Amino acid sequence: MKLPKRFRVARSKTGLGLFATEKIPKRTLIVEYKGRLIPNAKAKEIERRRANKYLFELNNRWTIDGSSRRNMARYVNHSCDANAEAETVRGRMMFRAEKTIAAGEEITIDYGEEYVEMFLAKTGCKCAACLD
Ligand SMILES: [Zn+2]
Repeated sequence: MKLPKRFRVARSKTGLGLFATEKIPKRTLIVEYKGRLIPNAKAKEIERRRANKYLFELNNRWTIDGSSRRNMARYVNHSCDANAEAETVRGRMMFRAEKTIAAGEEITIDYGEEYVEMFLAKTGCKCAACLD
């Protein structure tokens, strides 16, 4: 799926993040979460070792390994008050604007409790909603 590029990678509070370069209207598809497909059982095993934080479950069989730097969606950081959401569209994992995103605003996804527990428990969540 070819989408216009409405974002850039830039420094955020927690490392790199994906930022809107123009206003993104609510419901707009922003970026595809791309990568090699690996069977879910194998992904669970990798997750248990915390060896890869870019695994994203696509469906009941496959998980996307989004660790490639070509996968722009991997730069989307977690927020407990996210402005985008993940959605499968014709078998592809897409990030869609959940609300209108202003130019310059960081694009965020709520990766869910499991992710927060696994990767953010040590430092605590540093998203804007949690720091306020
Ligand atoms: Zn948070």
